[in-house]
This record gives sequence, structure tokens and C-alpha cells, in this order.
Amino acid sequence: MTASSPSVQIDADLTALNTFGLPARAKHLLRVRSLKDAQQACVFRSIRPEGDPGLILGGGSNLVLRGATLDTVLKIDIPGRRKISENKETILVEAGAGEPWHDFVRWTLDNGWPGLENLALIPGTVGAAPVQNIGAYGLEVAERIESVEALDLATGNPTRLNAKDCQFDYRNSVFKRTNRWLITSVRFSLPRRWQPLLSYGELAKEIAADGIGQPTPQQISEAVIALRRRKLPDPAELGSAGSFFKNPIVGAKQYAALIKAHPALPHYPQPDGREKLAAAWLIDQCGWRGRRLGAVGCYAQQALVLVNYGGATGADVLRLAEQIQNDVQKRFGVALEPEPVFV
Ligand SMILES: Cc1cc2nc3c(=O)[nH]c(=O)nc-3n(C[C@H](O)[C@H](O)[C@H](O)COP(=O)(O)OP(=O)(O)OC[C@H]3O[C@@H](n4cnc5c(N)ncnc54)[C@H](O)[C@@H]3O)c2cc1C
Repeated sequence: MTASSPSVQIDADLTALNTFGLPARAKHLLRVRSLKDAQQACVFRSIRPEGDPGLILGGGSNLVLRGATLDTVLKIDIPGRRKISENKETILVEAGAGEPWHDFVRWTLDNGWPGLENLALIPGTVGAAPVQNIGAYGLEVAERIESVEALDLATGNPTRLNAKDCQFDYRNSVFKRTNRWLITSVRFSLPRRWQPLLSYGELAKEIAADGIGQPTPQQISEAVIALRRRKLPDPAELGSAGSFFKNPIVGAKQYAALIKAHPALPHYPQPDGREKLAAAWLIDQCGWRGRRLGAVGCYAQQALVLVNYGGATGADVLRLAEQIQNDVQKRFGVALEPEPVFV
């Protein structure tokens, strides 16, 4: 490796590098600060989509580490954010994959470029945002992504993927479905004719409770932050990966039977005629909210969040998740799919 290569740490402890606080180690932890670093790291460790792709690590806020010793972990620290251009319709901005997501959202708002305020305070990095198409309070980041610059691990070539190439879906994308891409930067297209997005009932209520008629982007971001602080654990105080399960989407026939048996079941119609069900409600009905199983438990303020009360392992988390999945399956006939990536 040359002087400009990524720095390498041998036998690194990953416990503090994932927000769940789960123990694991890496034989090699490489800090990647540029596209060149990423290319060199991949050559150095022969990282390929087939075989051992290594772990690409951002803020570690959507991971369940099972505890195995990993060979190579690339910690993505690529910095930078800039405005690229603007026209009558949009403002185009770009950020390096290692930028903390919330700092980037705040930077856009401070510059008077709204559009990401509903996604304030989501932990993690800019580079991971497209991976599971982060979403909250009525907005998915796919609606604001213009393109993604990524290193193709199959060829070693940098490639620009437009939004269509990213194959965004509910908490999914081409980046989560395959191990092929290392994202180095993301471009966002922000609307110049901004409209507040208040389709999410709780957010509209929060704004109304503050007595605000026509909210500014800053006020929406403040309301989102207040809601999140009330409902979600702060990773600095209580380990978690945020929502542990996706909201399940069921077909019309299954939905009809479910709503007949459980008229209070919260549901959201999908464009294709299916219905998205509130996983938190299903889990709560099975008596899991606030329950603890050894060092792990189901968060009392939000049943969708599993937490580490201290000293938990990946196996503890998986055991709890399986029990919840079994109970929801037995009671409602609905399969819950985990949202974080298992490593
Ligand atoms: C308290 C809390 C609240 C949360 N709330 C939300 C929410 O409201 N909405 C939501 O969608 N998510 C939420 N999350 C989940 C998480 O914050 C997001 O998924 C976030 O985008 C993960 O970013 P990260 O940098 O921590 O990724 P990591 O956890 O480090 O990685 C996640 C996945 O992305 C891959 N990855 C990371 N960086 C790159 C890169 N540069 N190139 C290629 N692959 C990469 C990793 O290999 C891994 O597969 C929450 C998590 C917590 C702890």
C-alpha cells in the first residue's frame, strides 16, 4: 500500500462502530476517505461481489452483527458536500458517502434548499441512504435522489447510476439486493417550488399542536426531530438499529380477512391494490411492547424497535426477533421481515 492508501487497523473491535452495540471483530479495518482509497482497498483485499465481499460500513445504524470475526471491513469516511447547479425547477447538490446524514440535511436547510426535512435525524451516512431507500414521515429518499456514484466491485470501475438504475422500492434498492456496489457519493435534486409534505398524520398533528399554520421547512424538521426524540431511543444511550421489522404488505384477500377479524388494524393502501400493515401494532397485540428477554427487549415507546440493554450479542437479538416473528405469524398469519442487514 502507498502513502495515500487507506489506513488499516488490524484486529479491530466493531462494538462501538454499530449503534446496536453488538460485539464483533475485523481482521482488517480500512478507513476509506476517497474513491482512490476505495479502489485500492478493493484491490488490496481482493474484495469481489462473489465470495467474500467484505463489509462496507457507514454509521453502523442498520446492522445486526452476529459476532463472527470478519476478514475485511471498509469504513466509508468519504467527505464533501457542494451545490452543483440549479435551474427553474430544481437545485442539484452532492455529498460524499461518509457525510453524516443529519448534518447533510441540516446543511441543505441552512442554505435555503428544502426537500429533505422529513428525513431529519435519521442516523447513519449519506452513502447508506440509498441502500435501503431511507424513509420517514411520508417521504422516501428515492424521491430526492438524482443519481448515485458507486464503485462497481465486479470491475473496479466508478459508475454513475441514475435513479431508475437504483431500482428503489420500499426499504430496498439494487444496493441492498446485491453486493456489487460501493457508493462513493450521492446527488440530490431538491425542488425549488417547495410544498410542505404533511401526509403523515402524526407530523400534521405535531405541526398543528405547535399552532403553526403554514410551516417553514425548518419548522417541519424541528417537528420531525421532536417526534423522533419522543418515540425512538437515542443510540448514544440505548443500542438499537431503529425499526427492526418492515411493515408487511399483504394482498387484497388476506387484508380483507384480517380487517374483518381486527377492525382496529392500522393499514395503508398501496398503489398496486395491496395494503401495508403497521408491524408495530401487530407486535404490540402479541404483548411484546416493553417486554424484555435477557439483555434485549422490545422498546416501550415503539414496539418496532428492539434494544440492547447492555452486553447483548447478535444471537440474543436474533432469538428475540424469531420469537416475535413466530407470535405474529401464529396470531395473524403475517410474516415479518427484518429491516437491518445481518452480517
Ligand atoms: C434510532 C434509529 C432510528 C432509525 N430511523 C430510521 C428511519 O426513520 N428510516 C429509515 O429508513 N431508517 C432508519 N434507521 C436505520 C438507519 O439509520 C438507516 O438505514 C441508515 O441509512 C443506515 O446508515 P449507516 O451509515 O449507519 O449504514 P450501515 O448500518 O453502516 O450499513 C447499512 C447497509 O448499507 C451498506 N452500506 C453502508 N454504506 C455504504 C456505501 N457507502 N456503499 C455501499 N453500501 C453501503 C452496508 O454494507 C449495510 O449493508 C434508524 C436507525 C436507528 C438506530
